[in-house]
Amino acid sequence: MIRRLDELVESHPPATTEAVEFLGAQFDAGLAFVHFPPGYGGLGFSRQLQPLIRDRLKDAGAPNYAARNAIGYGMAAPTILTMGSEAQKRRYLRPLFTCEDIWCQLFSEPGAGSDVASLATRAVKDGDEWLLNGQKVWTTLAHTSRFGMVLARTNPEAEKHKGLTYFVVDMHAPGVEVRPLRQMTGDAEFNEVYFTDVRVPDGERLSEVGEGWRGAIVTLMNERVSIGGAISPRGSGPIGMAVGLWLRRPLEQRDPVTRDRLTRLWVESETQRLTNIRAAAASLAGTPGPEGSTAKLAYAELNKRVYELCDDLLGPEGMLYDSYEMRRPEGAGGEAGGPQRMFLRSRANSIEGGTSEVMRNILGERVLGLPGDVRVDKGVPWSQVPRN
Ligand SMILES: Cc1cc2nc3c(=O)[nH]c(=O)nc-3n(C[C@H](O)[C@H](O)[C@H](O)COP(=O)(O)OP(=O)(O)OC[C@H]3O[C@@H](n4cnc5c(N)ncnc54)[C@H](O)[C@@H]3O)c2cc1C
Repeated sequence: MIRRLDELVESHPPATTEAVEFLGAQFDAGLAFVHFPPGYGGLGFSRQLQPLIRDRLKDAGAPNYAARNAIGYGMAAPTILTMGSEAQKRRYLRPLFTCEDIWCQLFSEPGAGSDVASLATRAVKDGDEWLLNGQKVWTTLAHTSRFGMVLARTNPEAEKHKGLTYFVVDMHAPGVEVRPLRQMTGDAEFNEVYFTDVRVPDGERLSEVGEGWRGAIVTLMNERVSIGGAISPRGSGPIGMAVGLWLRRPLEQRDPVTRDRLTRLWVESETQRLTNIRAAAASLAGTPGPEGSTAKLAYAELNKRVYELCDDLLGPEGMLYDSYEMRRPEGAGGEAGGPQRMFLRSRANSIEGGTSEVMRNILGERVLGLPGDVRVDKGVPWSQVPRN
């Protein structure tokens, strides 16, 4: 693998190679998603090796567009690999990695978030095409996306999980309307998306008809790993920011109580990092299991506490904010910002990708074997389930 990395950098010097060309060559060398099979951007190696590749290429000055296509890299790519036809894999994976095509995830709706299987967007067969109608919400990066992964109801008379089908939708198709939604950071990172008689060719189906939930699970499991399973260098990321702010304080303001708080969070951050390394080592190319929910839960709650400390370390400066002018970010996750922006953005961590309460339900049921959540709609056709 190291030889491949060296050859890639030698044959495509990052300083003089266009980013798209470099990323295309990285994909062809199997260094894009190293745990994917050869021919699809990988080498069939352990997922654990990807951070090594990332760091080595970063040192060589290579482009890294992971934040620009966060949903493409983290969720669309593994879903296409698992669910897609050969033609779909050939068509979508490479331009996804080079960021010629940005992807978004169209699951949540105004009446379906935690209980996403209750969604109401309809797809009705019309010859070789499907007619898509409905509204999605909180769609991160829909404004930059070329393609979306959409879950739609194709059989309202089946139970909620059984009447869903998974499609790829062209976000530039007639009838797709994207409207910004602002977050408390001031940014509009996500959107409302309206579908009005959008035509989706049957060849863009990612699942068998009525089997969309199986694909949704693949996406959601990978989403949790992609949000919570990142392996950054020791002491970097949010805790690195907190340590930096602590060291900026004059010596006489470095009180023992705050130092204890910082140390405890540093230890927790390192524990989370090592747990993620262990989980990555255990999983090869398959769909991640409930360890993704553990990582997502730990990440969300820890991130919020670390950024709270960062804001506290700033003192009154923590109340100063650069600008609430609406921005349309090109990347997800608030992009790297100052501590105040990251503090506000971190509040969403325990909502996006499944709330902390829902992660605890999954862990309770699937890991600890506790009794299941109450489900009043079990065995009832979706059309007969009361909803507002
Ligand atoms: C920054 C951000 C980006 C997002 N990006 C996307 C995206 O790109 N694509 C997409 O499809 N969605 C996206 N989402 C939506 C996200 O997945 C949902 O917000 C989330 O799943 C929660 O759904 P909801 O907002 O409808 O809340 P609800 O499901 O209505 O939940 C409300 C409250 O009830 C609690 N609750 C609900 N059910 C249970 C239960 N069974 N047990 C215990 N407590 C429960 C929840 O924990 C929460 O506190 C994004 C959200 C955010 C904040």
